[in-house]
Amino acid sequence: MPLSANNPDRTSWLHVDKNSDFPIQNIPFGVFLTRDDIITIGTRIGDTAIDLGALHQLGYFDGIPLTDDIFLQDTLNDFIADGRKTWRLVRNRIAQIFDSENTTLKNNKQHKEIVLFRLDEIEMQLPVQIGDYTDFYASKEHATNVGTMFRGADNALMPNWLHMPVGYHGRSSSIIPSGIPIHRPQGQTMPEGADKPIFGPSKLVDFELEMAFITTDANDLGEPIPIDEAEDYIFGLVLFNDWSARDIQKWEYVPLGPFLGKNFASTISPWIVTLDALEPFRVETPKQDPKPLPYLQFKGKKSFDIRLEAAIKPKGAKETIVCKSNFKYMYWNMAQQLAHHTVNGCPVNSGDMMGSGTISGPTEDSYGSMLEITWRGEKPVKMKDGTERKFINDNDTVIMRGYCKNDDVRIGFGEVKTKLLPVFSPQKKK
Ligand code: MN
Repeated sequence: MPLSANNPDRTSWLHVDKNSDFPIQNIPFGVFLTRDDIITIGTRIGDTAIDLGALHQLGYFDGIPLTDDIFLQDTLNDFIADGRKTWRLVRNRIAQIFDSENTTLKNNKQHKEIVLFRLDEIEMQLPVQIGDYTDFYASKEHATNVGTMFRGADNALMPNWLHMPVGYHGRSSSIIPSGIPIHRPQGQTMPEGADKPIFGPSKLVDFELEMAFITTDANDLGEPIPIDEAEDYIFGLVLFNDWSARDIQKWEYVPLGPFLGKNFASTISPWIVTLDALEPFRVETPKQDPKPLPYLQFKGKKSFDIRLEAAIKPKGAKETIVCKSNFKYMYWNMAQQLAHHTVNGCPVNSGDMMGSGTISGPTEDSYGSMLEITWRGEKPVKMKDGTERKFINDNDTVIMRGYCKNDDVRIGFGEVKTKLLPVFSPQKKK
C-alpha cells in the first residue's frame, strides 16, 4: 500500500511552524485527556491536537475497516493490533482530511470545534499499556565506554557482545510519560574501599539517551520472527529516558544484570512516530564485524538518521545541552533485536516496548549518559548557570529531543522531559 501520507509536497490547512516536529507528513499517534476530561486517541499536526475518536464518530474514516470504539480507548493497543495495513489506511486518510486542498472539515466549523484542540487544552497520557519491556544494549560505543569503566579496557566488551544484541527484561510498571516528576531512588550501594554496603539515596542518578520501539502482535509461543519480516511488527518509536542509579547498578548487577538501579523510572515521549513516517530517513547501520549468525543477517538500510540531544535544566535556570547523538550509531538494529528476541519462540505482543540501550556516538560530545560524558564524574560538565554537574542533581529537569530532517521535511518526536525530585518523604505526601 502506498504511503501517500508521506508525500513531501503536501501542505495542511492547519498552521504548522517552519521548524515544527509535526508537519502533516508526520501524523504520530498518542492518547490524551480532552478539555472535557474525556480520554481519546489522537494525532497532532503543528500545535493542534486532533481527536481521532470524534473524527471516526463523525464518519471521516468511512470505508476503513475499524471497530466503532477503536479510538475511544485509553490505550493504542487495539489499534496497533489491527496491523500495518490499517495503520497505513488511517494515516493516509488523516493526511487527506487535513490537506490544504480538502475543504470538507476545514469549512465545517461545528465539526472542527469537536475535533480540534490546542495543546494547552489537553493532557498527554501513556500511549500504550506496555505489557512487556525489554532494554537492549545496542550501541558499541556505549558498551565499550561502560565496560571500560566497570571492568577495564581489556574486558570492555563481553565475548558475546559482537555476536548478539544483548538485552534484559525490564519492568513496565514504572514507565511513565513525559512531564511526570520522579524521586531520587534509595538503595544499597558499596562505597569505594568499604567492606560492607550502606543504604541511602543514590548519589549517582543518571539519564540514558535512548529510543524505544513499540510492537504489534507478532508471533505465537514457539514461533520465531524471521529478520526480513521483523519491521512489519514495529508500529513506531518514542524518545526514551532510561533513568539509572549508577551506584546501585554497580553493586547489584553481577550476576543477573540491572535491577533496582534501573526500574525506579523510565520516561517516554507521548507521541508515537510511526516507522512509516520515518521511511525517508533510512540509513546504513555500522558495518558488523564479525558477520553475525545467519538469523541476524539482514538486507537493506535498517537504521534511521534521527538526531538526538539531551539537556539538563537546573531549577530556575536555563537548560544546557550536554550531548548530541544519533540513532544511526546503534550497532544492532531494531530488526535484529526483534529477530533475536523471538528466535527462541518468545512471544511479542501489541504494546510491548523495546529500548535501544543508551545511544552513544563516537565522540565525547555524543555520549548518551552522564556516566560517559563526565567519565564517572572525573570530568564535570560546565552548566550555563555557572554550576557543574557530574550526575543529575535534585530539582534538575532532564529534557531529550529528537528529529529527522532532509531537504523536504522534518519529522520529529517532540520532547521527553522529567524533573528529578529529592528522595520520597512520606510526610510530604499529605
Ligand atoms: Mn537503558
